[in-house]
Amino acid sequence: MKIIVLFLLLVAYAMAVQSGPLSLDMACDRAFSAVLCTFEFTNNGREDLYLLTYNTPLEGPYSPFITLSLKGKPLQYEGVFASRTPPTREGFALIKARQSVSASIQITEIFSINRDGHYTVRYAQPLQYLSANEMRQQSYFDDVIEASQSVLPTQSVNLYLDKTRSLDKPMKQDEQTARKEVITITACRTTVSVGSDASIVEAHKKLCSHVHKVEDAVDKKNKTLYREWFEARPTHGPDHGPDHGPDHKPDHGPDHKPDHGPDHGPDHGPDHGPDHGPDHGPDHKPDHGPDHKPDHGPDHGPDHKPDHGPDHKPDHGPDHEPNHGPHHGPHHGPNHGPNHGRKNKVKDVFRKVNTGIRTKSVKYVINGVNCQPNWGAYTYKGSTTTYICPGLSNFPTLCSDDTKYNKEGVLLHEWSHAFGHTSDHAYGPRESRKLAKNYPDKAVDNADNYMYYYCLSIH
Ligand SMILES: [Zn+2]
Repeated sequence: MKIIVLFLLLVAYAMAVQSGPLSLDMACDRAFSAVLCTFEFTNNGREDLYLLTYNTPLEGPYSPFITLSLKGKPLQYEGVFASRTPPTREGFALIKARQSVSASIQITEIFSINRDGHYTVRYAQPLQYLSANEMRQQSYFDDVIEASQSVLPTQSVNLYLDKTRSLDKPMKQDEQTARKEVITITACRTTVSVGSDASIVEAHKKLCSHVHKVEDAVDKKNKTLYREWFEARPTHGPDHGPDHGPDHKPDHGPDHKPDHGPDHGPDHGPDHGPDHGPDHGPDHKPDHGPDHKPDHGPDHGPDHKPDHGPDHKPDHGPDHEPNHGPHHGPHHGPNHGPNHGRKNKVKDVFRKVNTGIRTKSVKYVINGVNCQPNWGAYTYKGSTTTYICPGLSNFPTLCSDDTKYNKEGVLLHEWSHAFGHTSDHAYGPRESRKLAKNYPDKAVDNADNYMYYYCLSIH
């Protein structure tokens, strides 16, 4: 197995060198009761660069930066979904020219591995970075730093795991509330408020009175606002149905051109499996280049042989299955236009948030144990608890008529994860608007887009 891993690393390294300054080496192995993966990010260029640590292993086991599959079936990511403040200088890791930074992650903290067998670990998040020169220019003008480049690594590692019952499992949520201050709010009525953070209660009350209005407004007004945050190109083809479900991976970098074209067929069909994604080849750049055909053609069959050009590796591997897996949402039928489907998804997320906070007993745990710098709060899909992080205390309580970070918006962001099963593809107003313009299917799955839309539409 080690030989195979080494071989994969060599192949990956050889290919990555051609694709830009940043490359990733990945290795996974069992370490007693854990499965440990090491990620080494190397700057092969001549200039220092800054890698955004958000949603990477450099931040810790706090985002689905990998997928883990057993015989083609992806395991559910059981880690946190956080609200991260728009990145500042501190959100980036410096990688000097010809040097590397690395991180080791116990992936048993974010996946429950209960069955013996052959597993595939795949890198699944685009790496966003900028050059040292760009960093100097940007930080001179602005606190918020925007990465200029994006690359989606293609690395995957296979490993056989047995005696998996004895492996560590992800932390249970109730282990995180011990000795913590907890605010409980049942059906929008505060039941515990002694010593609690009054601003969180205030922000939550606003959420209670506003979310249903925002849900209604999606159809009736704010058309400009809806387009700005969810689909800035309304004629965009039905390339990726909005119904891929909460576990659909972010399979293209934020700069991936959305031009699969309207010919991609309204029924995206069984080809867009759960493992579709990091196999775009190491040359997956902001532009597919001259080899990338602007559309996949009308007969985009179940074999999904996209013409990504000679650099596209046909490495769907043993775990590329012709089905969406158990987490795939309701099928996006051919009779529903993509816009209609997206709008329904947006309404559905707001409806679920509204129903969740109105009918359930929700908790806010103050200073959650997993909190990181630059986090406002975090939660889990399907949870009724949101963990508030110290970083949130510096921000205003309520939404304003701009895109400034605030508590009320962060709570909406978190409940959109917990009740609406959204993910995090991008953070901050600029990146979120870009999603709406270039990847509307990701925009309607991205928690920050809901946050901005919510705050702006109640003003
Ligand atoms: Zn989030």
